[in-house]
Amino acid sequence: MAIRNIREMGDPVLNKACKEVKEITDRTRELIDDMFDTMYEANGVGLAAPQVGILKRIVVIDVTGENPYLLINPVILETSGEQTGNEGCLSVPGRIGIVTRPNYVKVKAYDENLQPFELEGTELLARAICHELEHLDGHLYVERVEGELMNVSDMYEDEE
Ligand SMILES: [Zn+2]
Repeated sequence: MAIRNIREMGDPVLNKACKEVKEITDRTRELIDDMFDTMYEANGVGLAAPQVGILKRIVVIDVTGENPYLLINPVILETSGEQTGNEGCLSVPGRIGIVTRPNYVKVKAYDENLQPFELEGTELLARAICHELEHLDGHLYVERVEGELMNVSDMYEDEE
């Protein structure tokens, strides 16, 4: 297990489409472990493989710190509703922006044994699923921001 270097906006690897995972090797398992470690270390709620420079369709999410989800080759089956709120990304450090997302998402994915399962999420989990899946197609949330991208430090300076 290891902490991997998180790629930041401007790195071309973040704008490439990822390849489907066809088999789980020891290297894949190591990557998954490292992705969880890297996400927790950075206090993130989600991380996609291209954010650590690997162009594979693998995402890890944990919006509570107690419910880790691994999504391999995820596909959105259903969405409904709408939520508008702040969103950030480990690849865009110190920034935040307002993004509208579905409030409910149902996704099909594969686990670490390539067995299929479905996951439903609402609110923050739905937002995280949509955000992370877009990384797999080379997209960042900044493309969807309504208004300006803000500095996190500006937002909180009045509270000190
Ligand atoms: Zn992100």
